[in-house]
Amino acid sequence: MRIDDLLKNGQTISFEVFPPKPGMDADLSGIRSTLSALGAADPDFVSITYGSGGNNRSRAIDIADIVISLRMRTLSHLTAVSYTKEEISGVLDALTDSGVENILALRGDIPLNSAPDVIHWKDFRRASELARFVRYRGEFCIGGAAYAEGHQDSVSPEADIEFMREKAECGVSFFITQLFFDNDAFLRLLERSGAAGVNAPILAGIMPVLRARQIRRIIEISGCKVPAKLEGLLDRYLDDDASMMDAGIDYAAEQISSLWSKGVAGVHIYTMNKSAEVLEILRRCNLERGGGR
Ligand code: FAD
Repeated sequence: MRIDDLLKNGQTISFEVFPPKPGMDADLSGIRSTLSALGAADPDFVSITYGSGGNNRSRAIDIADIVISLRMRTLSHLTAVSYTKEEISGVLDALTDSGVENILALRGDIPLNSAPDVIHWKDFRRASELARFVRYRGEFCIGGAAYAEGHQDSVSPEADIEFMREKAECGVSFFITQLFFDNDAFLRLLERSGAAGVNAPILAGIMPVLRARQIRRIIEISGCKVPAKLEGLLDRYLDDDASMMDAGIDYAAEQISSLWSKGVAGVHIYTMNKSAEVLEILRRCNLERGGGR
């Protein structure tokens, strides 16, 4: 089923996983068992990231196959940076053959330390151009990225909304946000986009904080703001992984419960390929299978 159709039926819970690094989990049995465990939560869909530059391209498709074999719906991420139309068409053909119906059309992360003149833009410079190209084929439901706190290169919140509008005009029928820890930032995005007439559902991207040091790096890269409460937890549990994990699970559960009760279109959990912790988050907010859903 297409995700845009699914979203018409009510709020969704979904997960993101990423392909294991090259050389790890060679037969994908590790990710298969993670996905199988995550399936216990009966997610509405599972998204699979895609490395810019395509170094995990075939693994991303293999993982889509695993998700489908486990009878879950997939959302395959697809990035535009450094691809030609022919290359993108090849990936889309493979995804169609696998039975994938949903694509998250992204520009892609620019590889770190790339000088602007070293980035080899090929046929696509923006996610909206990729979305238009995918839409032309007609067989995919297309999602796009949104940013509760603005993209790192964003000029203004108003410009961000205009770029969301452009993506919607190019075929994007729902959005998923970058991670955020401050729900008010997400609610402001909903307000601004609604006021501007951008009506595609926006799913809240939630990343659980499971280890303080790891999340510090992610915060640095994504540039997202850290509310005082979370800052306190990160400081207190910098060297105490067990306590950080428990507090991080609570923090994510509170974020999700509050958003869910406000009627958000959906919550997309960045699982970091963890299953037990994600299931525990959903249990704590009574959103596991058979709970409040
Ligand atoms: P775009 O929408 O093209 O935006 C890129 C920049 O251009 C932004 O600053 C935007 O404000 C600006 N812009 C857009 N349109 C215009 C315009 N018309 N004129 C001027 N400026 C414009 N990266 C990966 O490599 N692989 C993944 O699997 C992946 N998954 C992601 C999943 C989600 C839910 C999110 C939120 C991000 C993901 N990313 C992924 C990261 C994403 O690729 C980066 O954030 C990237 O820098 C921007 O991607 P985008 O699709 O938002 O690009």
